[in-house]
Amino acid sequence: IRDLKIYAYHGVFEEEQRDGQTFYVSADLYLDTWEAEQNDDLDASVHYGIVSEKIQQYMTCVKHQLIERAAADVCEKLLGDFPKLQKIKLTLYKPEAPIPLPFGTVFVEVERGWEDVYIAVGSNMGDKEALIRKGIEMLDETPGVEVKEVSTLIETEPYGYLDQDTFLNGCLHVRTWLPPEVLLKRMQFIELALHRERKIHWGPRTIDLDMILYGEQVIHTKDLSVPHPDMTNRMFVLGPLDE
Ligand code: AMP
Repeated sequence: IRDLKIYAYHGVFEEEQRDGQTFYVSADLYLDTWEAEQNDDLDASVHYGIVSEKIQQYMTCVKHQLIERAAADVCEKLLGDFPKLQKIKLTLYKPEAPIPLPFGTVFVEVERGWEDVYIAVGSNMGDKEALIRKGIEMLDETPGVEVKEVSTLIETEPYGYLDQDTFLNGCLHVRTWLPPEVLLKRMQFIELALHRERKIHWGPRTIDLDMILYGEQVIHTKDLSVPHPDMTNRMFVLGPLDE
């Protein structure tokens, strides 16, 4: 969809939020079109008319300060509305932006897409299964995160530090449009909320969440290594992941 013209009220200045101005939206929608190509059936695709109306609705139902936020908001809502959409690239143009110089336009481009992520989960303190189920529930309640599948939870012997209770381990298949480092923060928040204690390295934990795979990405930052560097040493990760 190119250059959808929408009158809306986004902007940092009071006049912008009061009087509004004209915006233009272009959206690249990514989906598998094979079935629509073969069957000539609209239900197998995404209806550009309805998408355009939704863009208009989401652009006008709130007033954001920033076009960054406005564009992200539209992308995130569209991904929720149209399950067939794998990715959206949205460009939001603001040709009447308050710049006291002659100019063409300003714009932002925001991309959001679903990624398949696998998360290993483990617990060896308290009611292990209840803690794991609670952790899964908290992940699933996170905007932009959907828990699709949960493996069997298996009982395993401790690893590393041996003088501790047995573990319950499993693996989750999650679909998310959160970037890896944002998802990791959310996982760490859940660990803290469920009172994970970090006294002994490899020691007892109420709940441990490890990001095993994030799509096909290879990540090496200060906070995150993906694929998880230890996954191939741990049958309690590989078994449930395989399942
Ligand atoms: P752990 O105590 O084993 O859960 O490790 C937590 C630490 O490992 C945190 O500081 C994370 O930033 C870091 N880390 C690196 N890669 C990953 C990953 N793939 N999943 C979870 N934590 C990771």
